[in-house]
Amino acid sequence: MIAKFGTNNMKGMFASDHYNNGDPICKLKGLELSVRDRYTIQIGKTVHLNVSEPYRYMNHHCSPSVKIEGKIMLAAKDIEPGDEITFDYNTTEDVLACPFECNCCGKKIHGKFYEN
Ligand SMILES: [Zn+2]
Repeated sequence: MIAKFGTNNMKGMFASDHYNNGDPICKLKGLELSVRDRYTIQIGKTVHLNVSEPYRYMNHHCSPSVKIEGKIMLAAKDIEPGDEITFDYNTTEDVLACPFECNCCGKKIHGKFYEN
């Protein structure tokens, strides 16, 4: 996995290997914090994983390439080297530290406790 700037000029994380849909990719590592920020991933009711580079640059997508279950990252589709790795922030975060308008659909992404 590598971090670099994507086509939208936002830093993202990109695959360096091939994965089949459903493959476990890695276990996320980082300090477990009780507060969220724009780089943390929520893994429990009040547990936010402060993931390191390049994982902290994973962008949101509503049809993501990976899903996150606890600390495990799994391929959500077939992934080729160079593909951007994205996940659906609404599947992990109760509330987002920095809500934003989605690039793919224009919906406001707030976290799972907010419905559009
Ligand atoms: Zn979207």
